[in-house]
Amino acid sequence: MTDNRRRSQNRQRRDGAAGGRVVAGKAMEVAREAIEDLGEGPAGEHVGVAMTSPGVAVHRFQPNLPGYRGWEWHVVVAVAEGSKYITVSEVALVPGDTALQAPEWIPYEDRVRPGDLGPRDLMPPAPDDERLTPGEPNVRELTEQGKRAADARWKSGETGPHSEFAVNSLLNCGSCAFHIPLSGTLGRDWGVCVNEWAFDGSVVHHGHGCGAHSATPEVVGHGVPDKQAFDDQEIVERTELN
Ligand code: SF4
Repeated sequence: MTDNRRRSQNRQRRDGAAGGRVVAGKAMEVAREAIEDLGEGPAGEHVGVAMTSPGVAVHRFQPNLPGYRGWEWHVVVAVAEGSKYITVSEVALVPGDTALQAPEWIPYEDRVRPGDLGPRDLMPPAPDDERLTPGEPNVRELTEQGKRAADARWKSGETGPHSEFAVNSLLNCGSCAFHIPLSGTLGRDWGVCVNEWAFDGSVVHHGHGCGAHSATPEVVGHGVPDKQAFDDQEIVERTELN
């Protein structure tokens, strides 16, 4: 047997011995005591052990701590080559597969949503905001891209040409006296409703509409408008009177 091969076998035997000791019951007890030394109460059930490298293993325990359901104590123990001692390298409380964890972190600028702005909040546009022309803050103007983005948002909203009001209206905002067109390119399709009984102060599409249109005809005759509750009791009483 060559010296190299003998040395290799000796190392394997030592690694094997150390490996066996880091996963054995004595190492588990050392790991348990390391947790208790932290003063966080006794560790719970031993739920597993895994060797991470020769002479190094991780022992896992249930934590038995309020609020840490699904978490585990992980204790890294090691036996140095040729040593008779079991040492503790690290003790950590880590979330297991079923642990309740905080959602993934979202940066502040990505977390703010439309409608979050409060009266005293400041939200300066980014220097490269594509809705605004580049330059000093007090000389920037709205870009065509900014206008197109607004047009797209409004069109899909509740005052757009496909909203429920628009689909069911007899007359559209484009022909209503309460509709004041915007200036500029957005004014081709959009204006402001100034009817306090309708969408007062909202930007409405020409194709939007409502029953308070300035040319809505006077309602005449009996009955109720289409799709509203009908009082058939009234008919019966009239019939009896006749
Ligand atoms: S009153 Fe109705 S139809 Fe007229 S502008 Fe306002 S929402 Fe449009």
